[in-house]
Parts: sequence; C-alpha cells; structure tokens
Amino acid sequence: MSTTQTVLEILYDNKDKFVSSDFLCSKTKISRIAIWQHVKKLKNAGYLIEAKRGVGYKLIQKPPDLLNNFEVNKLVQKNKAINQVYFFESTTSTMDEAKKILENNKNLAHKALIVSLNQTQGRGRKSRHWLSFGNNIYASYIYLPQKLNPQDGLLVMFASCIAVVLALNDINIKVKIKWPNDCLVNDKKICGVLVDIKSDMSLIEEIVIGFGVNVNWEQIPDEINATSVYELKKKTTDRLWLLDKIMYYLSALIKLIEKGYKKNILNLWRLYQITLDRQVEIVSIDKKIYGTAKQIDELGFLLVETKNGIEKILTCDSLRFL
Ligand code: ATP
Repeated sequence: MSTTQTVLEILYDNKDKFVSSDFLCSKTKISRIAIWQHVKKLKNAGYLIEAKRGVGYKLIQKPPDLLNNFEVNKLVQKNKAINQVYFFESTTSTMDEAKKILENNKNLAHKALIVSLNQTQGRGRKSRHWLSFGNNIYASYIYLPQKLNPQDGLLVMFASCIAVVLALNDINIKVKIKWPNDCLVNDKKICGVLVDIKSDMSLIEEIVIGFGVNVNWEQIPDEINATSVYELKKKTTDRLWLLDKIMYYLSALIKLIEKGYKKNILNLWRLYQITLDRQVEIVSIDKKIYGTAKQIDELGFLLVETKNGIEKILTCDSLRFL
C-alpha cells in the first residue's frame, strides 16, 4: 500500500474527526511536511480534507462518485475476486493493458482488475469503436482458469452479462441480455461486454473480460442507441460500488461454471434474455440470415428458425432485432 493510501485509510477510519499530524507521522514513519504533501495529493484527487494548524487533518466527505487510484485500490482489500488493481486516467483500451500485463508478468495477472477513466481506442466486438469518454466504467478483468475448456467461452460471456444484470438489479434497473454480449434497458445499450480468450486444444489458459458500463453519462451522443444509469435514475451512482458488485457476482458465476453448474448459467441467461422469440437479422462475414431466434443450445450457441430450417449461430458480426 502506498503511503498516500495509508494516510487516506487513517483519515477514513476517523471520518469527520481530526487526526493529529503526530498520529499520522507515527503510523507512517514520515515527517510532518511529508504528511502535508500526501494530504495535498489526496485533495488534488478530489477528497475534501480540512487542515487545522496544531490540530491535524479531517476527512470531511468523499464526492458521491470518486473514481481514482486510491478508491479503486480499496477493492483489493474488500473484494476477494480482485488480487490487484491497475488504474489509468486514460489509455488506449483496458483490453490492451490486460494484454501487456499478461505478456509481462503472467504470474501476477490472475484476478487483476484494470480500470481507466477514459479510453482513446475503446472497442466492441469485431474491433468496433466503443465510445469511452463519459463518467462510466471502462474495465477489464483477467482470470486464469484451471479447468475450463474452449467451448466454455460463450458461458463466460453470459456470466459476465448476468453479473452486470444482477448488479444493476440491486439498484432496481431491469436489464435484459441481447445475444451474445450486450446488456439493454428498453432496447438501448447500457453495457457492452467483450471476452478475449486464449486457449490450447483442451483448456482455456487466459480470459480477459472487458466491461463498458454507461453509468454517469448525462449527455449520451445521438449517434448511438444507448442509455445510462444516470439517464434512468436521474442521479449520480458510485461507480466503485457498482464495479465492486459486478466483480462480486462475476466471480461467483465463474465459479459456477468451473464447478460444472453450466446449466445454471444458461437458465439465468434465459431468465434475463431478450433475444428469444424475436425476429432477427444476423449478419456474418459471408451471409445474412433472417428468422426467429428460437433457443440457445448447451454451449450458448443461438438457434434461429429460418425458412430453410434451423441455423446454429456460433458467432456473427451483428444481430439486429426486426
Ligand atoms: P450490434 O449492436 O450490431 O449487435 P454489437 O452489439 O455486438 O453489434 P459491439 O461490437 O458490442 O456491437 O459494440 C460496438 C457498438 O456499440 C458500436 O458500433 C456502437 O454502435 C455502439 N456503442 C459504442 N459505444 C457505446 C457506448 N458507450 N454505449 C453503448 N453503445 C455504444
């Protein structure tokens, strides 16, 4: 834990009370002037801290949605799903950062959470652009499973969408899942999930799950058919709280898959899905299919009834409701 983080923890433990400089010095083994510098850093990061000469420092309040290095790092202590956190003010994409972490230090990568305030090259499926500049969640999570096989990829995607659904359900937002990777409210996208998997013939070696969740987006660009938690609730939501919830549900759901309870994931998906029984247009590299989305099979592939019979969709460029 960095010294600034330690100073913050002490101020949090004594919220609304003054903590003397002497106490902070004894706990951190640094000088008064150094303490003052750490407090200055915290103030710059958005905390309201009152300083009184001869008395000490008091944390007055944390803004309702403060996402910074210190706050995100608190998740490591709080949430068993997270072993370490990487925080960026801006990056190309948290998926790129995850890739770098896996290349540079795979031993430390398991259960790493990467969070960025903005992404300059956020992406959806097929490298489509994901707009990433609002006060939203842009995060990737690395998981190195022991015994999942390559066919479990779609189930991991479903588990990730269900985790978002359950987390938003906790604040009374009813989210529906569109096959394969989107979370919608009133047919508008509130979250997109991306799953990158590296596997050998029989086992998945690495999973990276990317989340783009529209949280405190007040001005949603017209060019996309999207909504945000802010638009639905008309108030600011604590992104850290939401991220903590998503990670909590996600790790529980991944454990279910690992323990072989795959049917439970499929049943949960069925409970929250909005794709089945709808007329769809499915575009793939080489063809376009029209029909009714009928069911998913035991691996999560979509079965579509067309005029030529049932087509099994393994992947597609886009799925549009008609
Ligand atoms: P389709 O919507 O055609 O089925 P998709 O849902 O699989 O494709 P993705 O690749 O997951 O699409 O996401 C990229 C698309 O999402 C973009 O083409 C754009 O339309 C939309 N989009 C981009 N940024 C956002 C955002 N922040 N919130 C919601 N939607 C977005």
